[in-house]
Amino acid sequence: MTGKEIEYISDLLNLNKLSGNGYYTQKCHDFFETTYGFNKCLLTTSCTDALEMAAILVDIQPGDEVIMPSYTFVSTANAFVLRGAKIIFVDSRSDHPGMDEHAIEKLITPRTKVIVPVHYAGVACNMDKIMEIADTYNLFVIEDAAQAIDSYYIGNDGKKRILGSIGHLSAFSFHETKNIISGEGGMLVINEDRFKTRAEVIWEKGTNRASFFRGEVDKYGWVDLGSSFLPSEIIASFLFAQLESLDEIQNKRLVIWNYYNTSLESVNTYGIKTPFFPSYSTNNAHMYYLVMPDIKTRTKFIDYLKQNGVHSVFHYLSLHKSPFYHKKYKGEKLKFTENYANKLVRLPLYASLSEQELNKITQTILTFCNEFC
Ligand SMILES: *Cc1c(COP(=O)(O)O)cnc(C)c1O
Repeated sequence: MTGKEIEYISDLLNLNKLSGNGYYTQKCHDFFETTYGFNKCLLTTSCTDALEMAAILVDIQPGDEVIMPSYTFVSTANAFVLRGAKIIFVDSRSDHPGMDEHAIEKLITPRTKVIVPVHYAGVACNMDKIMEIADTYNLFVIEDAAQAIDSYYIGNDGKKRILGSIGHLSAFSFHETKNIISGEGGMLVINEDRFKTRAEVIWEKGTNRASFFRGEVDKYGWVDLGSSFLPSEIIASFLFAQLESLDEIQNKRLVIWNYYNTSLESVNTYGIKTPFFPSYSTNNAHMYYLVMPDIKTRTKFIDYLKQNGVHSVFHYLSLHKSPFYHKKYKGEKLKFTENYANKLVRLPLYASLSEQELNKITQTILTFCNEFC
C-alpha cells in the first residue's frame, strides 16, 4: 500500500459519484495513455473480464480456434471457451515458461482466429515472430499481459515497445497478486481504432451510454452484446493511488528481484535453474521463480521452506490436462509445459519485503541445497 489509497477513497465521498467511468477511472485511463502511449484503455473489474471483452470484440464464433499456451491461468482460456471457441494449446519454450513461438505455425488451420501470447512473469513473448505469423494467416493477437505491467519488448528493429501495445488488444490485471493492485481489477487496451467504439459499448452493458455522455447521441439504448465490465470508482481511486507510486513500487521490486538473483547464483550448480530472459525482454520484477530438478525435490523444497517460516508456492497445472479440458484436448504431449508444471516454484516477492527477511529466505534455500540436492 502507498498510503494514498484511503485518501482517494474518502475524496470520492465528496465527489458523490461511486459508479464506474467517473473522475478516477478517467485519471487511470489518462495515466496509462500518457505514461505508456496506449491508444485507448478501459478499466475492467478484472483481467478475466478484459479477456472476455476481447473475445467479444474479435467476434469469436462457436468452433473458432484460439492458440495459447497451456501453461497459463484458466481465464486466458475461459474467455474464449465461453464464446464457443476450441482452444489449441501450444508448448512452453525449453528455456522459459512463455509460449514457444516456433511451435505455433503448425497448429494453424482454416478455423484459427486468434493467438494469445501470455507474457509469463512479465517476460515478453517473441512478438516480432508472433505478429509476423498473425499477419501471414490474418489472425488477431490478444496479449495476456496480466503480469506484464511496465515491461518492454525489444524488437528486431532495436526499438523498445511496452508490452500490451503490440497485439490488436491486450489485457492487464490489478489482482492483489500482481505488481500494481486494486484488490480485483483489470484493464483492456485497444490498440486499433476500429475496436474503440464497440469496446465502449461492450464495456457499458451493450449500450451507447459513453457516446451519450459525450453528447454524440441524444439518447442511449441497447445496441450490441455487452456486460457490466467497468469497475466502480472506489476501485479506480484505489488503483490511481497505486499508479502514482508505480516507479517506487517497481524500483523496490527490482531491488528484491536482483537480491534473489545475486544471492542464489550458486543454486545452478545443484541443477536448479534461475529465471532466463530472452534478449528481447526487459524485467518488470513480477516474479522470482526457480525450476527444481524434479517434482520430488520441489515438494521437499516447499515443505522445508515452510518449516522455516518461508511461504513458497508452485504455479500453473497445465490446462490441457485439467479436469475440465483434458478430454477435449487432442494434441501432442506438451513436454515443456509439464516440465514447468512439475518443477517451477515461486519465492515471496512484494515491495515491503525487508533485507533481513530476504537474507533469511536465501540462506534457508542455500542450506536446503547443501543438505538435499
Ligand atoms: C492473474 C492472471 C489472470 C487473471 O487476472 P484477474 O485480474 O484475476 O482476472 C489472467 N492471466 C494471467 C496470465 C494471470 O497471471
